[in-house]
This record gives sequence, C-alpha cells and structure tokens, in this order.
Amino acid sequence: MNYIKEQNGQLWLTEDERENLKISYRIKEIIYSERSPFQHVMILDSYDFGRMLVLDGVVQTTSIDGHIYNEMITHVPLSLHPSPKKVLIIGGGDCGAAREVAKYEEVEEIHLVEIDELVVQACKEHLPEVSGNLSDPRVQYVYKDGVQFVKDHVNTYDVIIIDSSDPIGPAQVLFEYDFYKSVHEALKEDGMMVCQSQSPIFHMDVLKQTYANIRHLFPHVHVYTATVPTYPGGLWSFTLGAKQAVSFERLTTFAKQTKYANADVLNQCFCLPQFMKEHLQS
Ligand code: SAM
Repeated sequence: MNYIKEQNGQLWLTEDERENLKISYRIKEIIYSERSPFQHVMILDSYDFGRMLVLDGVVQTTSIDGHIYNEMITHVPLSLHPSPKKVLIIGGGDCGAAREVAKYEEVEEIHLVEIDELVVQACKEHLPEVSGNLSDPRVQYVYKDGVQFVKDHVNTYDVIIIDSSDPIGPAQVLFEYDFYKSVHEALKEDGMMVCQSQSPIFHMDVLKQTYANIRHLFPHVHVYTATVPTYPGGLWSFTLGAKQAVSFERLTTFAKQTKYANADVLNQCFCLPQFMKEHLQS
C-alpha cells in the first residue's frame, strides 16, 4: 500500500489522482485496514477531514464533507419522484445515502446492494458520522455485484441511486451502457435513476460518455453539480435519467432535516457552468 507513507515522523495518505496531481492528507491514526476479495478497505482518522473511508488508496467519503455528496445524490431524485416507495441503492457501502433515503416516510423499502460486505461493517463500526450505524428496518442489505442484481429485478423500482466508487476495479462495470440498460429495465414506467458521474474538471470524458449512454435510454436527462472538497477538483457531477418529464417545482417545497441541501441549493444545482453546457451539447 504505497499510498500511506511516514515522512519526518508524520503519517500521510497520498491519492495518486493523475500523473501530475497527487492529493495528500496528514493522518492521525489508521483505525481499520483489511483486504477484502474486492479491494483494500481502510478507515483513517485525518487531521483536516476527520474520519474517512478509503478504498484502494482513494478517499470515498469523510465525516467532514460526506453529507454533501450523500444529500445531493438522494434528495434530488427522492424529491422529484411523485411517490418513491421502492428505492434501490447500488454501492453506497458507507450507508450515508441510505440514511438520507430513510428520511422519507413514504419510502417502504430500501435495498442496498453493495459488492463488499467489509465496507458496510467497517463504516457501521468506525464511521458512524456517515453511516449513522443505520438500523432502519426498511433497509435490506444485499452483498452482490450490482450488475447481476439489476438484471434479476425488472420493472421493480421507483428510484435507483448508483452510489459507486470511481470507474476502476469493481465499479468499472457500473459505468457501462449495458448496466444502464438493465437499470432502465429495473425501473417502473415512471421511474428515475441518478448516478455520480465524476469530476467535470478532470473526468469530462467519463461525464460525457455517461450522459450520452443515459440519453440513449431515457427521454429526460439532467446533469447537476455539488462541491465536495475531498473529491478531485471539488466540483462533482450527478446525472439523472427519468422515464417521464421531471417537474422541478417539486424542489421548491423541500424541507428535510439536512446540513447542505435546501430548496435553493436543489433548485440551483441544475444551473451548469458554460463549459459543462458546451461539452454536453457537443
Ligand atoms: N461516494 C463515493 C464516491 O463517489 O467515490 C462512493 C461511495 S460508496 C463507498 C462506493 C461503493 O461502491 C463501495 O463500497 C464499493 O465497494 C461499491 N461497489 C463498487 N463496485 C460495485 C459493484 N459492481 N456492485 C456493487 N457495489 C459496488
């Protein structure tokens, strides 16, 4: 694990983001470190971002800014859908997204399909600020590859949230066209999906390919953004696909208990900077 190094008596995690970009965090303590059949799972305590979940040396979520990502990937689709009863989360092992979905009384079932059980265990035990040690009875944990799971559940869900890691390792398949096609088939006729679609600054190729794939399947596709400090470049994108037209005015009445999302933020998150509009139109 060359991403954890001791320098002058100090412990540092260095994320190897790109050839010419490394992101380093000073670490107080390695709280948990285990290899699963899929990846290296670590919970670290850092000086500036509190506790963080790190998979194969890449920061996934932290106790300082994890809520920004988890609130934006959940409250947008859950507020836009007319009556979300059955919700599927693919990935999401830190349980932060499921915790936000559980804030909707009208939701009857939350299926969390995570390929790596070790991630859920580690986050429940060592990252309660994000996982909330979630024990809501509506949450069903399924430890399986999301690709196979959606194929086995046609016309089942109102909302599908793809809370995946980066398109490397086990998550690579979650960015492929065939997977989005299965997601489209797993949704009911008024269903909608959302996925994290990487950085518009550093991964525009992934965002454009994701947008193109989803536009090929869904009649209504909308990209929105949020700022997540521990994600490369800070600016992060989400792509939403809906089988029926989306009524954005539903966001004006948003009033859930949150730390980042509110009605103004949810309404403005679809206002894209010019470079993104031009790239997505080209
Ligand atoms: N918000 C984080 C991000 O944007 O980087 C991701 C959070 S969550 C921890 C990502 C989860 O996706 C991980 O726990 C990982 O094990 C899971 N995952 C990766 N590939 C998967 C697959 N094919 N099926 C189900 N879960 C998968």
